[in-house]
Amino acid sequence: SSPVHVVGGGLAGSEAAWQIGRRGVPVILHEMRPVRGTDAHKTDGLAELVCSNSFRSDDAENNAVGVIHAEMRLAGSLIMACADKNQVPAGGALAVDRDGFSQAVTAAIEAEPLITVAREEVTGLPPAAWGQSIIATGPLTAPALADAISAETGQDALAFFDAIAPIIHTDSIDMSVCWFQSRYDKVGPGGTGKDYINCPMDKAQYEAFVDALIAGDTTGFKEWEGTPYFDGCLPIEIMAERGRETLRHGPMKPMGLTNAHQPDVKPYAVVQLRQDNALGTLYNMVGFQTKLKYGAQGEIFRLIPGLENAEFARLGGLHRNTYLNSPRLLDSTLQLRGRPGLRFAGQITGCEGYVESAAMGLLAGRFAAAEQLGEPLAPPPATTAFGALLNHITGGHILSDDEPGKRSFQPMNVNFGLFPPLDPGAIQRPEGGGRFRGKDKAKAKKQALARRALGDFAAWLGQPGTADAAE
Ligand code: FAD
Repeated sequence: SSPVHVVGGGLAGSEAAWQIGRRGVPVILHEMRPVRGTDAHKTDGLAELVCSNSFRSDDAENNAVGVIHAEMRLAGSLIMACADKNQVPAGGALAVDRDGFSQAVTAAIEAEPLITVAREEVTGLPPAAWGQSIIATGPLTAPALADAISAETGQDALAFFDAIAPIIHTDSIDMSVCWFQSRYDKVGPGGTGKDYINCPMDKAQYEAFVDALIAGDTTGFKEWEGTPYFDGCLPIEIMAERGRETLRHGPMKPMGLTNAHQPDVKPYAVVQLRQDNALGTLYNMVGFQTKLKYGAQGEIFRLIPGLENAEFARLGGLHRNTYLNSPRLLDSTLQLRGRPGLRFAGQITGCEGYVESAAMGLLAGRFAAAEQLGEPLAPPPATTAFGALLNHITGGHILSDDEPGKRSFQPMNVNFGLFPPLDPGAIQRPEGGGRFRGKDKAKAKKQALARRALGDFAAWLGQPGTADAAE
């Protein structure tokens, strides 16, 4: 058959090309390095790790990243095979020798007869004549292609950096302190007037919080020196520096909110959390994008009443990142709506991290190959780590209606908050009967989610049409 074109030989593009080749379909992999570099890549190797050398937890029983590792191995991932072969000691994490890893990926791709590597920059959208194509050009997509994508999707659908507010696991919020209410009980589209979780502060708590924000350790942030802050995206600590009252008149204003636990006590300031996924398992801190270091974020945000024991699904940040408003633009097989045959993969789709990017490359590759072979493939179920992440990217979360023009879609690592809840009874009782409590319950829940994911993923792989051509 005619070749599938993959643009970008990073984590996602290399995995996509490999998967397509394994299905017996030829591939042309277009990688611009060394002809043109990026601000972060240093070599001309495929799948170069631009920063840390860690693929994070390898614990497939208790950790969502570990689960996605296991699913990738089941699916014959090249990225995982090369990571496993180049492992360096890192406790329970999978860390790799970055050069050995990248060289192993490059060697495997170059040795695969069905893959041709073209060292060239692609400066426009793949032409129709290319047929099935995948764009996997990553967070540092070269400007000409980014402009072409933005012209096709509309300017407001492609972001060039992310200003990320922290996201919290709902079940770690203390609802004996916080309460559900929309400001002025406003009922928006699809809302109930109780769409936000509110955390109250008195004057002393507010003053202490502002002090902590101003004193907080911020990241060095070299790559973003000179970046203008976009309106409405000022880091929270910068707002705090601009005046002690700024936050109380901005994202922390108490107006229109009544503390359900203490209706007579008017809060001096309120931190609002907005539902972040359709399941309601995650809430984000409204207006809390930040450059504070991760350690400082944990300490400072746990000063907020009701968040003393908050567990963060992701912390805040501000990074260079080119990514699509995928829920609006991509269908459930990562295909651009209205442009059949053109898929996106990797971090540009709004996932975050080496492993997640490679996972979305694996899926895009399999979808494209299946299409080329005329046997379309259904997406993996949402109960799998692949499916949960795909669902986050292509639709399973809330778009905010109350802030027109603002994107609420934020790139995210895979985490158990993205998985649909367990069926009742799915958590086995502890030995000797009774019920799990506290930490034991949380652990049992994670383990049940992990078991369900791996079982369902194996079943998805077992469908006709998913086996490697070589087998
Ligand atoms: P990439 O791996 O960046 O691959 C994209 C490829 O496309 C590159 O090889 C690039 O040269 C090529 N390309 C771009 N434009 C074109 C074009 N027009 N034509 C042809 N080729 C093109 N994740 C982590 O898990 N841990 C980290 O520590 C980490 N640190 C990061 C640090 C920085 C500075 C950045 C920007 C991101 C970081 N990430 C990190 C996030 C992310 O996981 C990685 O960027 C990851 O490499 C994304 O995979 P990808 O395949 O989508 O993109």
